[in-house]
Amino acid sequence: MFESIKILVLNYSYEPLQFCSAKRGIIMVLSGRAEGIESNGFVVRSPSMSYPLPAVIRVLNMVRRKRKKGIAFSKKNILRRDNFTCQYCGNSNNILTVDHVRPKSLGGKTNWTNVVVACKPCNLKKGSRILKETGMRLKKTPSKPDCLFFHFSIPSSPESHLQIWQKYLPTNYFSKSLAN
Ligand SMILES: [Zn+2]
Repeated sequence: MFESIKILVLNYSYEPLQFCSAKRGIIMVLSGRAEGIESNGFVVRSPSMSYPLPAVIRVLNMVRRKRKKGIAFSKKNILRRDNFTCQYCGNSNNILTVDHVRPKSLGGKTNWTNVVVACKPCNLKKGSRILKETGMRLKKTPSKPDCLFFHFSIPSSPESHLQIWQKYLPTNYFSKSLAN
């Protein structure tokens, strides 16, 4: 069954890099390219050996990440950046949409610094007015994220793995991934 279990791979700096298959993770550790950081009682057995299955491994040589063009601007990524939370009222349970802080009709751009997550009620309340006229405030100034975790989502895994991984991943990212 362990084939379906994933291992969280950390960079030498303990920064999360990716998830890999249990098999690949074990090969990395046995070949000396990575070390097991945490395990939670799962054991892999073969006729010749048994090996505690790590939940987290850390590579022993720093992996230099290629800075790609950056995160694509999309509604999905705006939602992720804003933690699936309305940037006006802080609510995350209402139907969420995205809002142009400076309305398009007034020349507002569709970009990272002018588009935020808004719940339906806030979106309606704001309408096509500029913020100053509404008395509403942004929770934070929107900016282009450079968060690396945008590129992977948490694989479904045993609860014990999720608990361990939580220590190495940003809290809000983690909880939202689970909720989806
Ligand atoms: Zn709202």
